[in-house]
Amino acid sequence: MTRSFQYLRPDFPREACEMKAKHGGKAVFWAGGTDLMLQWRRGAVDIDYCIDLSGLDELRQIRSGEDATVIGALATIASLQAHESLGSDFPVLLDMAERFATPQIRNVATVGGNLCHGVPSADCAPPLISLDAEVRILSPEGERTLSLESFFVGPKQTALADDEMLAEISVRRLPPRSVCTFERMARSYVDIALASAACRLTIDEESRISEARIVMGAVAPVPLRSTGAEELLVGIPLVDITEGLLAEVGARAASDTRPISDVRTTAAYRKHLSGVLVKRAVAEAVRRLGE
Ligand SMILES: Cc1cc2nc3c(=O)[nH]c(=O)nc-3n(C[C@H](O)[C@H](O)[C@H](O)COP(=O)(O)OP(=O)(O)OC[C@H]3O[C@@H](n4cnc5c(N)ncnc54)[C@H](O)[C@@H]3O)c2cc1C
Repeated sequence: MTRSFQYLRPDFPREACEMKAKHGGKAVFWAGGTDLMLQWRRGAVDIDYCIDLSGLDELRQIRSGEDATVIGALATIASLQAHESLGSDFPVLLDMAERFATPQIRNVATVGGNLCHGVPSADCAPPLISLDAEVRILSPEGERTLSLESFFVGPKQTALADDEMLAEISVRRLPPRSVCTFERMARSYVDIALASAACRLTIDEESRISEARIVMGAVAPVPLRSTGAEELLVGIPLVDITEGLLAEVGARAASDTRPISDVRTTAAYRKHLSGVLVKRAVAEAVRRLGE
């Protein structure tokens, strides 16, 4: 049985944080509502105060600067697809957005809501972490910045304190000769991922891998970076990347996972799948760098 709640609509981000600080754990931020609505209907979340963020237009913007692109927390998944330069600056975000749910969900689901829900299957997380994204967090007292990688602290748990709000996600321009790829497997195109993987590779002027990021989704309590798999790639010339090395990288990443079994699939299948997806993501990055 759902209970009624009080509806609040702040005009400024700081006002939203003050409302949250005042009502604490009894208040929730409402962005697109695609996660929250389901939780509320199931009775999984008790809402006394609903703070509707939809009036905070400044947090809806995507700004492309010379050094970085800043994505407002309220930018929808569809707005990533519609943005004039995001797709050319960070094609992996376009690729992710195109595989995200349905157009109806993409029109209301926000990037910030996806990250703040804190589930390990959040599709925005692996590509953004592989791009070394940072998040800007507001509170009534001020603001702080931290890496997106450290934003996730457990299943449905983030680094946000009770009175804090995610304002922006910022992604620095990639070094030259960089490619980022995303792989995802779900039971159907409208379902959340069984597992996902993002890979970013940067090569130096001698075509040697100078930097690697491998991040997996839905296979641990939080989106998971495999530094062990990354180390297998750094320093290797592109031409020396063999099928055997790709398999080794996939296996190393899979060995880091701590998946669960649920209604969607088993832990064993998720572990296997993570290795396959990492291998595919790395192979695709290598292929594109070699073009
Ligand atoms: C049919 C369906 C298909 C889906 N498919 C996918 C999919 O393919 N991939 C995927 O990753 N997800 C999927 N989802 C999940 C959901 O759509 C996404 O996680 C979405 O991005 C959540 O954003 P939202 O704006 O709707 O968040 P909301 O539901 O409004 O909020 C989610 C949580 O984040 C908090 N929150 C929101 N914004 C902020 C903020 N700025 N600061 C602090 N806290 C905040 C809210 O309080 C709430 O706890 C699907 C959901 C449905 C119903």
